[in-house]
Amino acid sequence: MPTNLEISRGTVRKPLLDVAADMGIGPHLVEPYGNAAAKLSLDAIDELADRPKARYVVVSSLTPTPLGEGKTTTTVGLGQGFAHLGKRAVIAIRQSSMGPTFGIKGGAAGGGYAQVVPMETVNLHLTGDLHAVTGAHNLLAAMVDNHLHKGNALGLDPWSITWRRVLDVNDRDLRQIVTGLGGRQDGIPRQTGFDITAASEVMAILALCSSLRDLRNRLGRIVVGYDSDGEAVTAEQLKAAGAMCVQLREAVKPNLLQSVEQTPVLIHCGPFGNIAHGNSSVVADLVGIRCGDYLVTEAGFGADMGAERFFNIKCRASGLVPDAAVVVATVRAMKVHSGRYRVVAGRPLPDEMVQESPDDVYAGAGNLRRQLANIRAHGVTPVVAVNAFPGDFDSEHRAILDIAAEEGVRAAVSTHAAKGGKGAAELADAVAAACEQPAEFTHLYPTDLPLAEKIDVVARRMYGADGIDLSPLARRQLDTYTRCGFDALPVCIAKTHLSLSDDPSRKGAPTGWRLPVREVRASAGAGFVYPICGDMRTMPGLSSHPAAEHIDIDESGQVVGLA
Ligand code: ADP
Ligand code: MG
Repeated sequence: MPTNLEISRGTVRKPLLDVAADMGIGPHLVEPYGNAAAKLSLDAIDELADRPKARYVVVSSLTPTPLGEGKTTTTVGLGQGFAHLGKRAVIAIRQSSMGPTFGIKGGAAGGGYAQVVPMETVNLHLTGDLHAVTGAHNLLAAMVDNHLHKGNALGLDPWSITWRRVLDVNDRDLRQIVTGLGGRQDGIPRQTGFDITAASEVMAILALCSSLRDLRNRLGRIVVGYDSDGEAVTAEQLKAAGAMCVQLREAVKPNLLQSVEQTPVLIHCGPFGNIAHGNSSVVADLVGIRCGDYLVTEAGFGADMGAERFFNIKCRASGLVPDAAVVVATVRAMKVHSGRYRVVAGRPLPDEMVQESPDDVYAGAGNLRRQLANIRAHGVTPVVAVNAFPGDFDSEHRAILDIAAEEGVRAAVSTHAAKGGKGAAELADAVAAACEQPAEFTHLYPTDLPLAEKIDVVARRMYGADGIDLSPLARRQLDTYTRCGFDALPVCIAKTHLSLSDDPSRKGAPTGWRLPVREVRASAGAGFVYPICGDMRTMPGLSSHPAAEHIDIDESGQVVGLA
């Protein structure tokens, strides 16, 4: 099979105005950025408001291996599958970050014949949204330090400042730094650091806002630190929010691209999946929901994390109601959940693991069953997508279909990566049927529940924990947030995505454990409180041989080496 980049290069693209026309979007709402991507005006939200709503489908997965189980690929494949059935579909996914593109991950726009094109545009800069987020975030950082330097009228306690700086590069040396070195005119020395841009609260805000006005208001609610009385100091008080919003006025518009089969794709925002909610933007979905029969979107990580945040954070912000949820399963992840094998990113699968063994697949059923229950806990109908990889055996696919049947859940083997939309037709059929099944969407918890109880509900009902253990620090922080009025916010639990538990080595569906909460942070602007359970890296590093070593420009000026 040709590489992702070769497939992308061989694609014939439609003019973007025609792609927009397929969505029923007129040229006056399309703002071209070069010939591969366009921005859509937010006026589309009001202008299309009278149109019927598309069925809303979220793609999630079982607990993934470090290799990724193909949620993005399946999201694109499913959209193409609907199109293959003669339905109008729109695909909405996150924008990839350049840090990982040059680090370990390579591209993040799907794979094979289920990807967004052109790969170079998708993975490198796109329309500059991440740079705008970086700019807005760092402007606030500069205004915080300037405020200290110019007399600190707000009485901001320098030791309480939580607002760091961001950059879209995997650069571990910037994790902890000292700023303000030099003389009296060079600022006030302070220990701080950089996170990757995707981890910025500004990114989470951009993804959750529903209009330019809402963006402006959320930016104002950002808490940068506390004063000596323990009161929150905000971006509004620093008079930074307006200028930040101005920097983001183009970035807030969704980007329109297309798949290898010319299906419309909205790529917008890429918040982190652990310390943030890991979903593409609300505004993209508010546009896309009026533009076809189906809107297919992806929620990062397994259903316990991405889908739970999709339901309880993103759908709360957008007011949209999902009609079905796809849970992607792969033979390799099922085998890992048997507890018999371990896979490591960047290394080939162990030899014994690639032998035909439906028994190994079946032994991993516990994880898939729990993730299906996690979807059902929200009153949403799940569908299992078996994402077929070369080298899988039919008997192994059948084992996954058997587990789905035991759970009374529709399922289909999907070969979109090898065959495009045609390969996803059966999956699209199953999802279409699931959308018509009567269901009553419900949030997992009401927002007026105390914060600690919200964390407890997610830990017990999604992760299968027996309860939570709050550290003394976490308790104090929850008290502060309650006093500051953040107690009505939903929670976004930052834990490993590689296990249902907080321990990445525990596979399957671990029982008999409690979730330790070390500390709790607040993204008051984005609108969630995030408990930290385990070590969360917010600035990745590079490996001994980063992907960047293989990326280059060839003789003809083309990009080579994107994976
Ligand atoms: P996720 O969104 O769940 O992280 P991706 O869709 O990005 O996963 O897929 C992870 C990697 O696996 C990508 O490099 C993608 O090209 C590859 N991949 C996904 N599905 C398949 C498949 N069915 N066959 C071959 N490669 C695949
Ligand atoms: Mg993905």
